[in-house]
Amino acid sequence: MSKFWSPLVNDLVPYVPGEQPKMANLVKLNTNENPFGPSPKVIEAIQAELNDNLRLYPDPEGESLCQAIADYHNLKPEQVFLGNGSDEVLAHIFYGLFQHGEPILFPDITYSFYPVYCGLYRIEGQKVPLTDGFEINPEDYKQPNGGVIFPNPNAPTGRYLGLEHVEEILQANPDRVVVVDEAYVDFGGESAITLVDRYPNLLVSQTLSKARSLAGLRVGFAVGHADLIEALNRVKNSFNSYPLDRLALAGAKAAYEDDAWFRKCCEGVISERKRVTVALEGLGFEVLPSKANFIFARHKETAGEVLAKRLREQGIIVRHFNKPRISDFLRITIGTPEQNDALISGLRSL
Ligand code: PMP
Repeated sequence: MSKFWSPLVNDLVPYVPGEQPKMANLVKLNTNENPFGPSPKVIEAIQAELNDNLRLYPDPEGESLCQAIADYHNLKPEQVFLGNGSDEVLAHIFYGLFQHGEPILFPDITYSFYPVYCGLYRIEGQKVPLTDGFEINPEDYKQPNGGVIFPNPNAPTGRYLGLEHVEEILQANPDRVVVVDEAYVDFGGESAITLVDRYPNLLVSQTLSKARSLAGLRVGFAVGHADLIEALNRVKNSFNSYPLDRLALAGAKAAYEDDAWFRKCCEGVISERKRVTVALEGLGFEVLPSKANFIFARHKETAGEVLAKRLREQGIIVRHFNKPRISDFLRITIGTPEQNDALISGLRSL
């Protein structure tokens, strides 16, 4: 803190991202990246974009990417909003679509950026407890609020809420925006995007960081009724007119044009998730049912913190959260078969 800081900055409690270690040769299973890498067509598209046009600003609306995403999901391009990663999309949602004066509801165990945005924009957040089985209970989202947001599947639990329950929450809040953060939906969940045309209060956010292996490119988007998208564009254009650069726009579009690659990566993660789950159960872990590219697991005897430290000593990084109710758990990203083998044998040797 210094005398030059604004009081607004003094009050901030920022998000702390998972570690991005500098050393090579680590088995990195801590930030839910996709182990299989982007489609070769994405690399080609980015290389083709490396030309003299870089002197020009990119398309501020990213029209051709909006069109590609709209075509993929059977929507109109004016129903698509792009951002520099879904974190930025979420930031604009909190600013532009959530009402002040009543609390924004989100699960008590969830993506820890949500309370950070509440702090940044000085809106009240209310954490809603999960059930004993770490599930979202739709009944708890039928109380006065300024907006609702939850990941589906939830993070870091990996638990998925069926669309019939998502609809219950939408129907209970016709005058409030309900945001379904689908960062991990492609690993076995069903997307609420199919509901967008029936619910003007629904906004679905997705990212290219996970299933499409492009965390380094920073592309996310939201889809919903054109009115909601217009509000987000107003916020965006009051902040940064060009959130996506030329390389990101070209690479992201190519990712949507290589569906076979996308499906293969998702299937690879899902089958490895099954294998890792069975192996960990055999080693004395309780593993929550996951529809994400990670699992959330606790050992019957050894504390999560101890396990994370011992794995780290073997060059394997997983995520441990020192938070009430979940401090026993490890969140483990599903890696390549070789990385997962290293994890399993690492745990076996402890
Ligand atoms: N939502 C959830 C639930 C996440 O876990 C993440 C990744 N940390 C994001 C959104 C943001 O992803 P990105 O900014 O890479 O699109």
